[in-house]
Amino acid sequence: MPELPEVETVKRGLEPVMQGFIFERVTLNRLNLRFPFGKNFISRIQGKTLTSLTRRGKFLKATLSSNDVLYMHLGMSGRFTIDNNPTAIYDSRNSTNPKHDHVIFEMNNGVRITYNDPRRFGFMELIAPGEPSRLDKMGPEPLDNMFNGPYLFNKLSGKKNTIKSALLDQSIISGLGNIYVCEAIFKAKISPKRLAGKVTIKETEILVNEIKAVIKKAIEAGGSSLKDFASVDGNLGYFQHSFDVYAQAKMPCKVCTTPIERIVQNGRSSFYCKACQK
Ligand SMILES: [Zn+2]
Repeated sequence: MPELPEVETVKRGLEPVMQGFIFERVTLNRLNLRFPFGKNFISRIQGKTLTSLTRRGKFLKATLSSNDVLYMHLGMSGRFTIDNNPTAIYDSRNSTNPKHDHVIFEMNNGVRITYNDPRRFGFMELIAPGEPSRLDKMGPEPLDNMFNGPYLFNKLSGKKNTIKSALLDQSIISGLGNIYVCEAIFKAKISPKRLAGKVTIKETEILVNEIKAVIKKAIEAGGSSLKDFASVDGNLGYFQHSFDVYAQAKMPCKVCTTPIERIVQNGRSSFYCKACQK
């Protein structure tokens, strides 16, 4: 599932082929993803220039020359494919998974970008200037200076839920998901079962630093995957990555060799070392 570093990698991959170019043709192969595309989705994008492509949390944010903003979320399984040399007409025979090619953007530089999403938890939404969006209440970016020890300590104090679920709350910090929360709290030696309100100020400082480090390292890994992605399969955003605890159940902890445990919290897996994390 794509989290901040994966979405950042997608952004960096799409930027050179989309930013500054005009959407020549937009094709929708269905009426909705997780949510409907909304009225006039195609006509509001077609013919407009994508003036800037940025990322906020797990969202891609494409600002158009009309000042509409197109928000794109990859959900669980969304991916973009770039075809630099497409045939004149989209041909599903050229796709590895044509059934799930839902949105096709053809830019005026001749590049075709296909959005494929088998599970359809992803979505795209157009927001007019001044219109409220789901990003309005989003917390700071992990690498922003505003995300620091005192900020997080203040947000966690009095919280009765676990540190695991508090860090998944996008209004506290944006962009983290299951993978990077598991990794960061392992590095900070905090159990996923600890109540958020019981994390000390000193631990919060350590945790903030570990979150920043984990995210930075993953963005770098994504960046190096981008260098040769075009020669691989043209798929953006999913790169090989080594994790300390995530999906490492029964493997020896890299610090103390105790087998990593998997538990389920709020329906989602947590992986941790019960010896290192308290
Ligand atoms: Zn350990």
